[in-house]
Amino acid sequence: MTRSLRVAIVGAGPAGMYAAGHLLEGPGGTYLDGRLQQLVDRPVEVDVFDRLPTPWGLLRHGVAPDHPEKKLVETVFARTAARPGFRFYGNVEIGHHVHPRELAEWYDAVVYAHGASGDAPLGIPGEDLRGSLSARAFVCWYNGHPDYRDLDIDLSHERAVVIGNGNVALDVARILARPAGSLRGTDIAEHALTALENSGVREIVVLGRRAPLDGAFHNPELEELAHLTGVDIHVEDGDVSGDHDPGPLDQDSRRKLGTLRNYAARTTRGSSKRIVLRFLSSPVRIVGHDRVEGLLVGRNRLELDAEGGRRARATGDEILLETGLVLRATGYFGTPLPELPYDDRLGTVPSIAGRVIAGGHTVPGRYVTGWAERGPRGIIGTNKKYARDTVRSLLDDARHARLPLPGTLTAEAVDGIVRSRQPQVVDHNGWLRIDDRERRAGRAARRPRHKLTDRPALLDAASGPPPNS
Ligand SMILES: Cc1cc2nc3c(=O)[nH]c(=O)nc-3n(C[C@H](O)[C@H](O)[C@H](O)COP(=O)(O)OP(=O)(O)OC[C@H]3O[C@@H](n4cnc5c(N)ncnc54)[C@H](O)[C@@H]3O)c2cc1C
Repeated sequence: MTRSLRVAIVGAGPAGMYAAGHLLEGPGGTYLDGRLQQLVDRPVEVDVFDRLPTPWGLLRHGVAPDHPEKKLVETVFARTAARPGFRFYGNVEIGHHVHPRELAEWYDAVVYAHGASGDAPLGIPGEDLRGSLSARAFVCWYNGHPDYRDLDIDLSHERAVVIGNGNVALDVARILARPAGSLRGTDIAEHALTALENSGVREIVVLGRRAPLDGAFHNPELEELAHLTGVDIHVEDGDVSGDHDPGPLDQDSRRKLGTLRNYAARTTRGSSKRIVLRFLSSPVRIVGHDRVEGLLVGRNRLELDAEGGRRARATGDEILLETGLVLRATGYFGTPLPELPYDDRLGTVPSIAGRVIAGGHTVPGRYVTGWAERGPRGIIGTNKKYARDTVRSLLDDARHARLPLPGTLTAEAVDGIVRSRQPQVVDHNGWLRIDDRERRAGRAARRPRHKLTDRPALLDAASGPPPNS
């Protein structure tokens, strides 16, 4: 009988699930360039490991709860997970329960898709004070990530400051500003909903180092702010007026400028909350004794550098914003896995076309995709293309006998070892039970799901009665 090609994938986020989908689309083949191509003449089996009891990565713990339409892609991942040859090992951490060198021995090939779960440091004094946290931690908290449910978030102060000008900064500003009642019908974690309902935050300042048009946020996220009920939007310190000629602009920038001009021209409606988009402003120091009391902000002006690029330069003017909560939305960053090459400058696993590189050479049988491959950039759909390219490299290597020695263990043997080291594995059926329990609990409250947010509850649901029982 033909032996299957056995592949391990580390991480059940969008990148890992797209890679699994490409590997399992056709037995030994995948849709590349729009058609099913038979790349290896044997069936493929995929074991996906995730350190959490739940799959889908940042689709569950990153995407904002008030963006349910972005979560529809989970039906694609659910279809992949239901395919023959797919196995899920949730609650199994690679580098802890199982080591990368073991995966390399057990499987024919390993795809790393473990994302970027650290923070890019801001590098200013006071960063570690209580009340200063990464937007990543805050997002995990409101999305019910089990490692962040007990985070100490103090929403009693009138002003919160979000440092950064990307979509994540706008997500957290929006969640803080929204009337909490409007989040009731979402899958936001219950503890976060309660805290937001009791929040004293009235003003959210979003700080951008450079000019309005340099903001990394996308137009839909910027425009969405206009539709928040009971929230005024202000633009400060960044000339978006019609008097200012920004030079030739592409279509996206023209649209962004139009939105910002509208915000700048809006008269205050006296709403109970406001979001202030403050540009040309850099955080200098977080001040406070044992917790955050304020943020010292330096004002910038733009200068042209030798290459004609624009640089923010400090003017020397500084102001103190009183606040009790500083959220640093200055980027996610990769974290190394033991025994796996890591570029600490970029926070990624070095690779070419998805093949892992060490010392200038490819490491046979090891692949990488998603944010672990290219850093924390790109939306969910971006990962599909990268996963396809990585899978293409893998299947091509399999076809041309460039994989190392065949994996040494059968599926049953791997299953036995993994369960002996982590008896509380959540397999695919376990996830279906969690999913069913959350959806049922949500239905009663007219919510898409009521997320379980601590490990014991998740493990209890995973071992409970099967769906429809
Ligand atoms: C706050 C936020 C909001 C976003 N909103 C949107 C949006 O609205 N629309 C959109 O298109 N995109 C959005 N994105 C981008 C999108 O989430 C990413 O493109 C995508 O999640 C990256 O996929 P990934 O699989 O590489 O990483 P991840 O989604 O992070 O998945 C990595 C997985 O690996 C697991 N893992 C990590 N280490 C280990 C280990 N040692 N062992 C086992 N498992 C491990 C993790 O638990 C996780 O499940 C958002 C991103 C963020 C941060």
